[in-house]
Amino acid sequence: MSKATRPDRQANKYTDMKILILNCGSSSIKYQLFDMNRKSIPAKGVAEKVGLKGSFVSLEKENGEKVVFEGEIIDHLVGIEYILGIIISKKHGCIANLDEIDAVGHRVVNGGEKFHSSVYITDEVQAEIEKFSQLAPLHNPANLKGIYAMKLLIPGIPQVAVFDTAFHQTLPEYAFMYAIPYSLYNKYGIRRYGFHGTSHYYISRRACEILNKDIKKLKIITCHMGNGSSMTAIHNGKSVDTSMGFTPLEGLIMGTRSGDTDIGVLTFIMDKEEIGISAANTLINKQSGMLGITGVSSDMREIEEAATKDKNHRARLGLDMFIYRAKKYIGAYVAAMCGVDLIIFSGGIGENSPAIRKAICECLGFMGMEFDDKKNEGTKAKEAVISKPGSKVTIMVVPTNEELVIAEDTMRIVTEMSGKT
Ligand code: ADP
Repeated sequence: MSKATRPDRQANKYTDMKILILNCGSSSIKYQLFDMNRKSIPAKGVAEKVGLKGSFVSLEKENGEKVVFEGEIIDHLVGIEYILGIIISKKHGCIANLDEIDAVGHRVVNGGEKFHSSVYITDEVQAEIEKFSQLAPLHNPANLKGIYAMKLLIPGIPQVAVFDTAFHQTLPEYAFMYAIPYSLYNKYGIRRYGFHGTSHYYISRRACEILNKDIKKLKIITCHMGNGSSMTAIHNGKSVDTSMGFTPLEGLIMGTRSGDTDIGVLTFIMDKEEIGISAANTLINKQSGMLGITGVSSDMREIEEAATKDKNHRARLGLDMFIYRAKKYIGAYVAAMCGVDLIIFSGGIGENSPAIRKAICECLGFMGMEFDDKKNEGTKAKEAVISKPGSKVTIMVVPTNEELVIAEDTMRIVTEMSGKT
């Protein structure tokens, strides 16, 4: 790390770090400023519609104050400059100047087979992330824009990459390979990578902390269900299978993504509708899933309302399909691990929809699981055990906190690096 450009950074400073977390998407930049000493978030928000009309940056401060700043954000560099300007501004800011930011942690979607854990971003690491852009063309290039921008805006600031794929690098070969010609794995790295790894990691660790149990002795199924959804089988603390694959398209039914679908369906549609790769990608990523089935929305709240209040058939069908797919994955992962001790729900749907949690768990009583209806009903967006005390399988709700993992990894890695310089 360049101490020349960051002269005030002493080793003992690292327990008192302020870390900026960036999650750059193609047209949005989510940010959180962590104060690691106070374990607080003085500022967080998002720059939306980057590169589009009507762009703005939102800010939420620790005291609950919320402000929206409208302005033209032509690209990620401008967006991040805008965010930094806001958090140091006299009127709305929470730090006096940019020197108070000790490090930046980035969410990076695909780290290929190279990165099994979070890393300090050097020029070599940056080049590897660039290389993996071909595996995640919708995600890695946007993540990289955040890295480039910070290099320009605060030269020399330590940066760390935390990969969505890293936690799943422990999958055994028989679980990560696809049954297509082996040469394509060698040629292009086609295999299951899995995503949402930081969330699956966090909720499994946090649940064990709450239960005071040793993760190395448990079989866990984590269900991250939000706009994007995935499930992971975690055996003795390691990810052994996960529902997302080469891309975040495989597995559960999602807001606008199809999840598991016979590949033959896609080639048939491309042929009949005379569409190319780009339109086919849009079809399965943006027009399918809950939106495609229900025609109502991709938002689970609106779908649940349409199914119950309006008795909308397609909304009901979508819900039934979503629940059925989730149940099948739980069954598959119980078989994969020869049992299960703990099932955890998280993500916008998993944390907030008692009806969906109940429907998924309803027929799992044969495994000795005793679901507690009352606790389930009373649990929204908070940590809770929703199975009965004597249940053979524990069911929990644990709100995810990927940003905290990114902040902690960033602090740890930057501290280690400071010891080496
Ligand atoms: P992302 O994957 O973009 O991070 P979230 O984890 O925030 O998304 O999840 C968004 C999903 O959670 C949406 O489908 C939304 O409808 C759903 N959701 C949020 N609150 C509720 C609720 N109270 N009941 C049912 N679904 C909910």
